[in-house]
Amino acid sequence: MTKSPASGLSLGIDIGGSKTHGILLDADGARLAESVRPTLTGADGVVATAIAVVTECLGQARDGVVSIGIGIPGQVDPATGVVRTAVNLGISELDLGERLTAALGLPVTIDNDVKAAALGAANHLGVADGDLAYLNFGTGVAAAAVVRGRLVRGHGNLAGEIGHIPVDPAGDRCHCGQRGCLEVLAGGGRIAARLAALGTGLTLPTLVQAAEAGDPGAVAEADRLCRGIALAVQLVVLTQGSERVVLGGGVIHTAPGLVPRVQDVLIARAAESEFLASLHLADRITVIPADYPVAAIGAALVGLRRTRARHLAPIG
Ligand SMILES: [Zn+2]
Repeated sequence: MTKSPASGLSLGIDIGGSKTHGILLDADGARLAESVRPTLTGADGVVATAIAVVTECLGQARDGVVSIGIGIPGQVDPATGVVRTAVNLGISELDLGERLTAALGLPVTIDNDVKAAALGAANHLGVADGDLAYLNFGTGVAAAAVVRGRLVRGHGNLAGEIGHIPVDPAGDRCHCGQRGCLEVLAGGGRIAARLAALGTGLTLPTLVQAAEAGDPGAVAEADRLCRGIALAVQLVVLTQGSERVVLGGGVIHTAPGLVPRVQDVLIARAAESEFLASLHLADRITVIPADYPVAAIGAALVGLRRTRARHLAPIG
């Protein structure tokens, strides 16, 4: 990370459906402290969990902290810090930025967790000013694009909600009301439900291995999942022109062998289309290591960027 007038300690917090992960970074981006706690749900639970993680991370270091950034699922307005419809956290609307700023006495910046993770991925790959798309396959599916170092937000920060692009008119109904959304094909929640319905004990960690051994249920599910991920890769490259596509989220990290299978799907499709072949989609894919806290580090960057913007803003 580059030092600036706002150099100092920065704290990033990734609030997830099951756990909240905090990380304290120095001005060079080195990790000084970490804290992980189970996320308590509901507005009060999320606020209490975030405060506990911040307190644990900061310890005695409070004076040197220049920014706190938070990544959280749902519709987030980074200008106001208000979070809406974070369904897995039991939040319909929460003024998270104001509540945490008041409780902690430090400025807190809030952003969507996948958008924060895209910044973390760009930083990890050393392309903070470059072009990439981050695709998150967790319970649901979402994307975030960084173009020349800036997040693509769109009106209402809607850009990246690709999980609800319908790609299979004959597919199952999505909770959003449409049929065959990308999230139906490749969202972890739907995959887990289909695997459980098979009644064969098949799980995501054993899916690809079972498919390679010829288990028909595993073959069908792995093909559906890989088709969904491959479509998502093609979608972000064609809409954003992303040089790199970074894959992350629980589905990617708990299914060994999945990413090479996705690349095989893309290569097979390219063999039938000169146009697709020219895009080299399989080669654009990168996976961030599972032990790299991409969303928490991205959240720290969200906070740092806001603090630097304040310092660099003209006075008056
Ligand atoms: Zn949908």
